[in-house]
Amino acid sequence: MFGSFAPTPYDLRFQLLGIPVRVHPIFWLSSAYLAWESEHLDRVAVRVLCIFLAVLVHEMGHALVTRRFGWQPEIVLHMLGGYATSMRHSTWKDIAVSAAGPGAGFLLVLMIWLPCELLDILLPGSTLLSPRFNFAAMQNWPEAIAAGTTGNELVLTAIDFSFWFNIIINLINILPVVPLDGGQISREYWLWAKPRRGMEICLKLSIVTGGAVAAWGAYSMKFPDVAWSFGRNGLFLGVMFGYLAYLSYEELQKSSGRQW
Ligand SMILES: [Zn+2]
Repeated sequence: MFGSFAPTPYDLRFQLLGIPVRVHPIFWLSSAYLAWESEHLDRVAVRVLCIFLAVLVHEMGHALVTRRFGWQPEIVLHMLGGYATSMRHSTWKDIAVSAAGPGAGFLLVLMIWLPCELLDILLPGSTLLSPRFNFAAMQNWPEAIAAGTTGNELVLTAIDFSFWFNIIINLINILPVVPLDGGQISREYWLWAKPRRGMEICLKLSIVTGGAVAAWGAYSMKFPDVAWSFGRNGLFLGVMFGYLAYLSYEELQKSSGRQW
């Protein structure tokens, strides 16, 4: 969504399930920025790996469904996210491709949650966005995984951060804001449901939703104690969604200009 990122000599390249993946250096830098905590570089490294896994799984969702529809995709990870190349199929196939990214992301949340639940390491009443750990359940684990009564700090950092990051990025992505996944689904749907006014409805929905998230980001930065606060990430979300709402507004101006 920040445009395409040209290959560099420092790109990490590999194949996953036959799909070529390219990781631009800006991915590691922007992830480290988000994960930063100057006194604990080990935690930063763990969080960066969690971001890598989360974004890769999300993009693999798009890529696998794209390939199923007969087109060979490529995944590029860049500025705090990525994209999987695709092509225009049909309304419902395109909706399936867009939905598959967040779908894979929520599946990953489930796959992290299930062992936590089976091993009884989450305290009853704690939520996935702010998990509280049951250290007593970890007491008999091997030393390498759990240390005494405080648990292995890095394992818990990975679980805690993965829940938060996967839930937030996939929830953000299903909002009907162009060009996020939810925005693509909204556009496909409205163009199908209302061929003449579909684009206009989609863009207006995008402006209102993007504007509301931008306002909430700014508000929750000022009042970090409210529920669903973005805390210090409020600025980032506010700027990003404000910018996306503006792009939709510009697009709407252009399309209504063509009409008249
Ligand atoms: Zn996506």
